[in-house]
Amino acid sequence: MKRVFTLAALLLGHAVFAAERGPAVPDYPAEQVAPRTYVIHGPVGYPTAENQGFMNNPAFVLTADGVVVIDPGSSVQTGEMVLRQIRKLTGQKVLAVLNTHVHGDHWLGNQAFRDADPAVAIYGHPNMIAGIEAGVGDSWVANMDQLTAGATRGTRVVGPNTAVQDGDSVSFGGITFRFLHFGIAHSNSDLMIEVPQEQVLFLADNATNRRIIRMDDGRFSGNIATLDAATQVKARVLVPGHGKTGDWTLVQAYRDYLAELKAAVKTHYDAGLSDFEMKPQVAAALARFADWPGFDDELGKHISLALLEIEAESF
Ligand SMILES: [Zn+2]
Repeated sequence: MKRVFTLAALLLGHAVFAAERGPAVPDYPAEQVAPRTYVIHGPVGYPTAENQGFMNNPAFVLTADGVVVIDPGSSVQTGEMVLRQIRKLTGQKVLAVLNTHVHGDHWLGNQAFRDADPAVAIYGHPNMIAGIEAGVGDSWVANMDQLTAGATRGTRVVGPNTAVQDGDSVSFGGITFRFLHFGIAHSNSDLMIEVPQEQVLFLADNATNRRIIRMDDGRFSGNIATLDAATQVKARVLVPGHGKTGDWTLVQAYRDYLAELKAAVKTHYDAGLSDFEMKPQVAAALARFADWPGFDDELGKHISLALLEIEAESF
């Protein structure tokens, strides 16, 4: 009997818990970066109660027939904030949502657009769809809720329903969106999105602007190769996954970080040092990146990952 009561209490507790919803995310300005393209530059940092989990760069393109949204953020609340900024500029329908990769800080906001229009198409890489089927989205929902002290509560997993691969393109209202994927880079599901008419390239998390991010699902070699391939794109506006929109110098700087980290690790690996032993020397070699948020948090992990890659490549 006691057990039944406990279960009932848990179920009741869960029902109350599920009914709660985190507060609205305040408006952040949509900055025009090209004639039809706007970016809402999110706070640079990890998810916290203060930033309500909002930390990426949601964007949208106003086509002749309606709006195309890219990466609407980390929660239903962020997605709703993105929709409010769109509504300040146009009453036109949202035609599609494009997702750059499987990390939930970029796409959990899909829910707001699906709630507004159950028929809206959501695009993503097949590996992203497979990851969500394997439970990655559920983990992100739980982690966001915990890291933001419940600010994202009410968010549920709404993944892509339309798979796109490298070389695919879709057009809306005369504007073409071309997807680029060059294997595992920042994750296994990265899609860079070129908008040729706007001379815009959305970089996904393959590059940030002055921000060090997790590489737990990535490969330094693949990320560097992907950025090298990206330089073939004739874009003049580069939208990173985190940090301000800029030009090709931001791509070069992020590539430099990845390449210099890997080169420093290789040097000390060849000299017989362990990851722990080489950390101060790698930090010194990368001193020019030390003021990028995330540097101290990620350096140890990045060294370990680079070491694993170097060991694998040496066989
Ligand atoms: Zn990411």
